[in-house]
Amino acid sequence: MNPICVSREKCVACGACITACPFAAIALQDQVAVIDVNRCNLCGACVEACSLAAIEIARTAAVNLDLGSYKGIWVFAEQKDNLIQSITYELLGEGRKLADVLGMELSAVLLGHTIQNQVSALRLRGADRIYLVDRAELAYFQDESYANVLINLVRRHKPAILLCGATTIGRSLAPRVAVTLNTGLTADCTELSIDPATGDLLQTRPTFGGNIMATIISPNHRPQMATVRHKVMKEAGIVEGRSTEIILEQVAYELVQSRTRRLRFELEQETTINISEANIIVSGGRGLQAPENFSLIRELAEVLGAGVGSSRAAVDAGWIPYSHQVGQTGKTVCPKIYIACGISGQIQHLAGMSSSDLIIAINKDKDAPIFNVANYGIVGDLFKILPLLTRELKKMLQS
Ligand SMILES: Cc1cc2nc3c(=O)[nH]c(=O)nc-3n(C[C@H](O)[C@H](O)[C@H](O)COP(=O)(O)OP(=O)(O)OC[C@H]3O[C@@H](n4cnc5c(N)ncnc54)[C@H](O)[C@@H]3O)c2cc1C
Repeated sequence: MNPICVSREKCVACGACITACPFAAIALQDQVAVIDVNRCNLCGACVEACSLAAIEIARTAAVNLDLGSYKGIWVFAEQKDNLIQSITYELLGEGRKLADVLGMELSAVLLGHTIQNQVSALRLRGADRIYLVDRAELAYFQDESYANVLINLVRRHKPAILLCGATTIGRSLAPRVAVTLNTGLTADCTELSIDPATGDLLQTRPTFGGNIMATIISPNHRPQMATVRHKVMKEAGIVEGRSTEIILEQVAYELVQSRTRRLRFELEQETTINISEANIIVSGGRGLQAPENFSLIRELAEVLGAGVGSSRAAVDAGWIPYSHQVGQTGKTVCPKIYIACGISGQIQHLAGMSSSDLIIAINKDKDAPIFNVANYGIVGDLFKILPLLTRELKKMLQS
C-alpha cells in the first residue's frame, strides 16, 4: 500500500502541494498531483498545503498498545573493553532529568562479559536499577546478539523511553531494536525534554543541513527511542550512597548467537590526541590556505597538550583526515577551550563545538560568524598571530 495518496476526485491540480514540497517529489500528470514515493519523506507539508484535503498519509496505528504499562527511562550503557564509555554518563545525566520530571525510575542496561566491576560506576552516576547480562558471547559489541538481547529485555520490562549514544555502536544498535519493536527512533538528538501536557518525549535534532531544529514525538508507540550526540549533554555527576537494584538477567542461548564473528580489531593510528576526549582543541579551517600550514595548528596544540580539530572545508580539501572534523557531519566536541583559527563559523561547524566552555577565534574578517559564539576574538592574520601565540605560551608554560 502507498503510504501517501492523492484523491483523484478531490485534486483540482492547483499546484499548492508542488510549491510546498521541500523534496520536489510532486508533479502534475493528467491534471492530478502525483507523488514520487522514492523522493517523498512523508513530512506532511503537502497535506497542510492542500485546502481540499486531497492528500492523505496512511499512519500505522500502534496495535493494542497499552501505553500506560510502559514505565521508566532506560539508558543503554555502552562499554568498550569492559570500560563504561563517557557517552553513557551523558545519557544518565539527561535520563535523570527526564526520570525526575516523569516521576519514573532511571535504569541502565549493561551487556558484556565479566563486567560486574563496572556496575558501581553506573550506580555512582545515578542509575536506580541496573539490568546486567553477563555472557561470554557478549564480550564485545555485535549488532545481532546485542540487538536481540536488548529487544528481549524491552519486551519483558517495557520501558517508556530508551536512550542510546549516537556513537558507532548506538547508531548500529538502535535502528535494529526500533524496527523490530515497531517503534519510532530519532537519531542524533541534541536536546530532550518532556511535553508537560502529554508526558511524551520531545526529541530535538538539527535538520535541513543544520538550518532548523526539528522536534519529533512518538505518541503512539513505545518505547520512545532516541540516540543522543556525544558531548552535547553534560555527564551525570557522581553521587555517593545511592541504593541501586541490580538485576542479573538470564537470556536464552539463541539470543546471543550471531552470524558474524570478529576476526581482529585494528585501532586507527592517531598521531594526536583524540578530539572527542580532549580538554583543549586547536582547530584549523580553510583560512590556513594549504595542508602544510596545519603545522601552525599542530605546534600550538603541542604546546597546550591539545587535540587538533578542523572544519569540513579543510577535510574536503584533503589537508587533514576526517577523524579531525568537528561539526554536524563530524565530531561533536565539548572541550574546556576551543581555539578556531581561520574558520568562518558556519552553522554546521558550530553544531559540533558551540557547547565548548571557552571559545577563542582568530579570523581576519571581523564580521565572521564565529565571533558571534566566541568568548574572545582576535581579528587578524593567523599566519602572524599563531606563531606569536605559540612562542609566548611556550615561554609561559615552561616558566
Ligand atoms: C550538510 C552539510 C554538513 C556540513 N557539515 C560540516 C561539519 O561537520 N563541519 C564543518 O566544519 N563544516 C560542515 N559543513 C560545511 C560548512 O557549511 C562550511 O562550508 C565549512 O564549515 C567552512 O569551513 P571553513 O570555515 O574552514 O571555511 P570558510 O567558510 O571558507 O572560512 C574560512 C575563514 O578563514 C578566514 N581566513 C582566511 N584567511 C585568513 C587568515 N590569513 N587569517 C585569519 N583568518 C583567515 C576567512 O575570513 C574565513 O572566515 C557542512 C555543510 C553541509 C551542507
